[in-house]
Amino acid sequence: MKPTIQEALNWASLFLKRHNREEKVGELLLIHVLGLSRLEFLMRLQDPMAPEKYDMFKQMVESHATTGIPLQHLTGEEQFYDRTFTVTKDTLIPRQETEELIYYLLEDLNKRPHLTDVVDVGTGTGVLGITLKLERPNLNVSAVDISDAALGVAKANAKRLAADVTFWSSDFLSALIETGQSVDVIVSNPPYIPYSDLDSLSDTVKNFDPHLALFSEEDGLYSYRTIINEAKQVLRPHGLLAFEIGYNQQEAVTALIRSAFPDAIVETKQDMFGRDRMVF
Ligand code: GLN
Repeated sequence: MKPTIQEALNWASLFLKRHNREEKVGELLLIHVLGLSRLEFLMRLQDPMAPEKYDMFKQMVESHATTGIPLQHLTGEEQFYDRTFTVTKDTLIPRQETEELIYYLLEDLNKRPHLTDVVDVGTGTGVLGITLKLERPNLNVSAVDISDAALGVAKANAKRLAADVTFWSSDFLSALIETGQSVDVIVSNPPYIPYSDLDSLSDTVKNFDPHLALFSEEDGLYSYRTIINEAKQVLRPHGLLAFEIGYNQQEAVTALIRSAFPDAIVETKQDMFGRDRMVF
């Protein structure tokens, strides 16, 4: 007897619960394996499942439950600002908090339409640069990363979403400095976790997000210090820096900005959990 979709879902819920994993993962993986919309899925719960799909689903649930491999590595995708991005083991899985960075940055850009040239530093999957270009097609957007593997993913995402973004292989802003380019806006969600926090991370983050994308020296501040110092050569007068930060880095990042740009107006924003998460 072929199991129904509902039975597969029930099995997954129980299995995930026993392994202290989120039960919702079962539904998301099932929707992915079946290639259905959520609504179609809910309407077909009593349909029987093809055995090969059931086996594929079971393997994914088991591997997530036992190893912590993120759902996004199993499906190869994550949603960001209502679009689907490809993710791989070479890229940070985009986070909800980073969508808030886009939200506030777009608000800011609306008030300052003369800011047109943007660079996304450490683009990873490309979410920041690509989303900005698609939301505001008049912007000129460049995106850089030190990881060629990540750049490959970002370029594929730009193609998939038809976003005209220029990609550079670059350690922070060095490629722009070498080629003498300047911009109006530097946006970045750089690696910012101190190495000392390694043990406090979940196995899903610790074992599967690339460490190059997570960790930074100097209590996690090395990335900001570098970008801010390089910004002195790259950022045009009256330009804008937009950073995602760690929940306890607001004071340190603000101080770094003020020492490099004494006249800067620095503003902090909180994420949906009320934690300091963005500095503009
Ligand atoms: N810019 C990408 C993101 O926000 C990657 C960030 C990173 O790898 N630190 O998801």
